[in-house]
Amino acid sequence: KRLAILGGGESGVGTALLGKAKGYDVFVSDKGEIKKEYKDVLRHNEITWEDKQHTASKILNADIVMKSPGIPDKVPLVKQIRKAGIPIVSEIEFASKYTDATLVAITGSNGKTTTASLAYHLLKQDLDIGLAGNIGDSFAKQILEEDYKNYVLEISSFQLDDIKDFRPKIAILTNITPDHLDRYDYKFENYIASKFRIVENQTEDDFFIYDADDPVIENRMKANTIKSQKLPFSLTKIIENGAYIKDEEIIITIDNNQIIMPIKKLALDGKHNVKNAMAASTAAHLLKIRKQTIRESLENFQGVEHRLENVLRINKVQYINDSKATNVNATYFALESMQAPTVWIVGGEDKGNDYRELFPFVNEKVKAIICLGVDNAKLMETFGSMVDVIIETQFMSEAVKIAYKIASAGDNVLLSPACASFDLFENYEDRGRQFKDSVRKL
Ligand code: ADP
Repeated sequence: KRLAILGGGESGVGTALLGKAKGYDVFVSDKGEIKKEYKDVLRHNEITWEDKQHTASKILNADIVMKSPGIPDKVPLVKQIRKAGIPIVSEIEFASKYTDATLVAITGSNGKTTTASLAYHLLKQDLDIGLAGNIGDSFAKQILEEDYKNYVLEISSFQLDDIKDFRPKIAILTNITPDHLDRYDYKFENYIASKFRIVENQTEDDFFIYDADDPVIENRMKANTIKSQKLPFSLTKIIENGAYIKDEEIIITIDNNQIIMPIKKLALDGKHNVKNAMAASTAAHLLKIRKQTIRESLENFQGVEHRLENVLRINKVQYINDSKATNVNATYFALESMQAPTVWIVGGEDKGNDYRELFPFVNEKVKAIICLGVDNAKLMETFGSMVDVIIETQFMSEAVKIAYKIASAGDNVLLSPACASFDLFENYEDRGRQFKDSVRKL
């Protein structure tokens, strides 16, 4: 059988290797340039490939197509493939057929990487487990080369768009706020439906962990079409089966078996991270990780780069890198978690942002704003009357120097852009690294 793969990145090359090992005749095609290290892998494994083009005839003769999550459905070739009736699958769909491992799959608009990394950190103490999906090495490659008995998978809505039978034992949905709507015909309900596909193949033997405080999720749960066992988590409600807060402690109950963890002992700050901790620990409790291990691991988790990452303290000012906050909701939680007057560096490529939900925090905590983007007009206009100091720049080093001048002992300097990075930077990692480099140069 012929397997055509669109996209020669981590997931494409991983799928190619697994496909080849399972007897497929594999062809990889990438419209851009395939990285040298990936070309070497393909060559070494005698897998045919092309880059800087798609040769339609070599793709339309496939029995199955694996499409990288970055490629939108509106691309003409994808339309042609669908018209020809060739099934299109994502990496997780293709790869999960070749493993019996227990899958913990995590999706949501924000918090996927943090929750996946934390869940992996908790589970790896007692289990043979891999971390894959949008993070680290390809899932398909790990199935081929490592063959773990369990996986934590970070899963985007784009991966879920092309599943058919994918069925995680434990599904986690962190939250749903509007994002990536350009890929969903600008319809929020399409994006919501995509996120909920994470549970569509689950049965009564499986589990669904979700944020019961999220109005979008709660609304959808009312339809009651979900077959798996529900384990919600909440900061505000009492939850009998699942996780909630009482007297500053997280209480997780599964079949009357409780685990209790004081919030102040959690390694990560912020309400959103309490939620992430509840979600990850519920999965760990389900998979019977020892309670003491769960508690210790929540205390010593190191966090993930670019997510409310403490960089340095200089002259009693704390510099915090939250470059991964590429939407307003992520920045909401960053500002909420600030415990001191904050100099806030914000801006970048606006995705139609509505900043109103940030106003209370800006009024209460932000002493100065530095707008860092090619076009700062909307930010200047929105926040201009709210703070005494608002300055714009197009250079990270300058933004950091200005922040250094404005901040006084006890303050925070927070980079939490609420915007995409592509106007001035290669990506959010580049933006975060430039921030850290500039801070270190101070
Ligand atoms: P994702 O992988 O879904 O993009 P990350 O864990 O990388 O999520 O976090 C992205 C941004 O969202 C960071 O700025 C982080 O501080 C913030 N964040 C993390 N968890 C949550 C959450 N549960 N709700 C809202 N924002 C969150």
